[in-house]
Amino acid sequence: MHDHQHQDQDVASGVTDAEAVVFVCATCGVALTGPLTRLPAVPEAPDYAWWDADEPGPSPATVPSGCYAIETEPYGAPLVVAEVPGPVMPRHGERWNADGKPLVSQGPRGNIVINPGDARDLELRHASPACCGATPDGGMNQLCTCGTLVATLCSDCCLPYELHLAADRVRATRP
Ligand SMILES: [Zn+2]
Ligand SMILES: [Zn+2]
Repeated sequence: MHDHQHQDQDVASGVTDAEAVVFVCATCGVALTGPLTRLPAVPEAPDYAWWDADEPGPSPATVPSGCYAIETEPYGAPLVVAEVPGPVMPRHGERWNADGKPLVSQGPRGNIVINPGDARDLELRHASPACCGATPDGGMNQLCTCGTLVATLCSDCCLPYELHLAADRVRATRP
């Protein structure tokens, strides 16, 4: 009985098969996405000359609509001083603190990366300074309608365009 229940939970987590899942808020159960199918890895962010764009706005999305992928690297806050310069977090450039020291993310691993257009009913509450969109440097910045922080939106014009659902704030369910 217990084994059977455990297996059902593994299936519901959606991480081992290609069937579509809907991510819901772990606190209140409201759907945060439509049905999404897993990609084997987070794609490269598309090349985009944001400085040539006619209007400020997000780059093309990293993850195609209808899909999700698991970020295996640390993402978002906190940013700590790194031994060697490198990307501050996946698909981002280098970032330095006020003393000129390179920074690197020590945030959570295992974020569920989706196309921001596939998210539902999330409200932005900035956690770090931004230009025309939102930045992930301050951590989670997306509120569920129940008031719980559940995700991080990255949408500033010079950054990859993606939404990261926090693995411990959401659940995968069958549509
Ligand atoms: Zn909620
Ligand atoms: Zn901008």
